[in-house]
Amino acid sequence: MNDEQMNALLAARALTAAVTPLSTDCGRVCGHACCQPDETGRGGMLLFPGEEALYRGLAGFAVTRTDLMGAPALLLTCNDHCQREERPLSCRIFPLLPVLREGRVGVVRDRRGYEVCPLLPSGLGGFRTDFVEAVRQAGEALARVDAHRCFLNRLHRQIAGFADLL
Ligand code: SF4
Ligand code: SF4
Repeated sequence: MNDEQMNALLAARALTAAVTPLSTDCGRVCGHACCQPDETGRGGMLLFPGEEALYRGLAGFAVTRTDLMGAPALLLTCNDHCQREERPLSCRIFPLLPVLREGRVGVVRDRRGYEVCPLLPSGLGGFRTDFVEAVRQAGEALARVDAHRCFLNRLHRQIAGFADLL
């Protein structure tokens, strides 16, 4: 991984480090549903390219291989709790995602979260504006680097399969 890739990732993580979807702790509404294991007993968040380096030797996390639209990708699993500064970018921006369209960065709701996150049906207007803006700015940082741009594009191709949900 090169410095440019890591710097963009660190910038995106920093931009989304302190913002939250709502003014109050949204986890109180849903019992922190997005931190619970799935029906297979195994949670997991996709890591952005190179992000695995930040979890090497960190207790409570495991990295496993997966596939994202035919390309190798890595999944981070956790013990259902973490320090705020340890959260991977996927958790920091959930349940939103930056999207690259016609050279611009926008923000959409992440359809993969529809079944767990009660905030998604309300639309983008239901989220704190600083949270939405931080996700957009994180997307701008990522969009400058090929590996992150490709990753985001593959992610959107994957979630296009959930088109009937939102
Ligand atoms: S599932 Fe949605 S409402 Fe619940 S903690 Fe996660 S982001 Fe917040
Ligand atoms: S890493 Fe932290 S925020 Fe992400 S799912 Fe695990 S406990 Fe939740």
